[in-house]
Amino acid sequence: MHVSEIFYSLQGEGMLVGTPSVFVRLAGCPFRCRWCDTAYAWDFAAGQELVEGQIAEQVNLWPCRFVVLTGGEPMTDPDLDVRPGLVDLSHRLHAAGKHITIETSGVLFVPDLACDLMSISPKLTNAASRTDTHRADRFDSETIRRLIGTYPYQLKFVVESPQDVEEVRQMLDRLGDLDPARVMLMPQASTAQELLRRSPAIAEACKQAGLRFGQRLHLLLWDRQRGV
Ligand code: SF4
Repeated sequence: MHVSEIFYSLQGEGMLVGTPSVFVRLAGCPFRCRWCDTAYAWDFAAGQELVEGQIAEQVNLWPCRFVVLTGGEPMTDPDLDVRPGLVDLSHRLHAAGKHITIETSGVLFVPDLACDLMSISPKLTNAASRTDTHRADRFDSETIRRLIGTYPYQLKFVVESPQDVEEVRQMLDRLGDLDPARVMLMPQASTAQELLRRSPAIAEACKQAGLRFGQRLHLLLWDRQRGV
């Protein structure tokens, strides 16, 4: 598997925010979101080729129970098929006693994963760019429903302005019954300054919509630094 980087940090988003975690960033994403903060991991050939056992060995260098499989888009290969080695890697890590979060855009249902938290971040139209492969069918409610029905989950939406909340509402309507504590809106930002500037309006929109606000701790703490 091509691995962009493996590093130890704090989980910056979602229900496990602040939790010390080892991040395994798998290389490659078929999308090109306008505000993506991991463009260096878009190429499926980026980073180092490691077999699953080598990845598990590196993860085990830190005495840390929480592991995050992220990307890029960790679930897929360039053709939107299941990424080879992913299911095996998840089971190896689970057998070593790890708690596993998988961070995905929710574009593909993969059965048989060892996954303690499926962290799904469906992209709104604010993610589209001219070079993006963003397509109308990218939000596939049936795929996300299957992920939610199979794994413990959270849903994170990146919103740029209060106007985006209506699009989130429409997506949530298509997903059916959800636990509101597992759904959160996060401000779109690529710097700590931008995050702080956008947060009050998004927080107010969350209050009005009755949706949870999700802060992005890693940006606040480390701004644009990588691997921390
Ligand atoms: S899906 Fe995620 S990794 Fe891929 S381009 Fe969008 S934000 Fe970046």
